[in-house]
Amino acid sequence: MTVPQGRHGSGPRGHHQVSAVDEVHLRRCVALATQALENGDDPFGSVLVDADGAVLAEAMNREASDRDPTAHPELELVRWAIARLTPAQRAASTVYTSGEHCPMCAAAHGWAGLGRVVAAASAGQLAEWRASWGLPPGPVTPMPLTEVVPDVVVIAPVAPFDAEMREVHRRALARTEG
Ligand SMILES: [Zn+2]
Repeated sequence: MTVPQGRHGSGPRGHHQVSAVDEVHLRRCVALATQALENGDDPFGSVLVDADGAVLAEAMNREASDRDPTAHPELELVRWAIARLTPAQRAASTVYTSGEHCPMCAAAHGWAGLGRVVAAASAGQLAEWRASWGLPPGPVTPMPLTEVVPDVVVIAPVAPFDAEMREVHRRALARTEG
């Protein structure tokens, strides 16, 4: 399946330069995704950061733990931000995540007016990996975040974190096959 490119998007194999601060937060997302994997959940983790680069909140996938297929970390961070931040603070925030938002989380991000997104792996990569491993498509069509929220700035994918996430997802697949 071809995933359309957002207007801020690059090709699925394109990579972006990010700051040392961005790298710290992406590394944490990979760690949270790995923790989710170890909890028996899908390997996704996200961090909400304020305008000064300070971590406000973290979340990881809890689909299996909560028996809730919508228990995605990006949606949890939206809920956190709406409860605690002003619209201006939300707009100035950055969401780091191990994998680019699904359309549900993308829409929530847009309605909440959150700021920039930096994702280790792009939506296109996630779809490509699933397909390459012979997995059926999920029930929701993957697409770049900018297809859902045109004005949000998205940086994805980011090396080497995308390759690290590919390995974490491969481990998740091996678990389900084992
Ligand atoms: Zn989602």
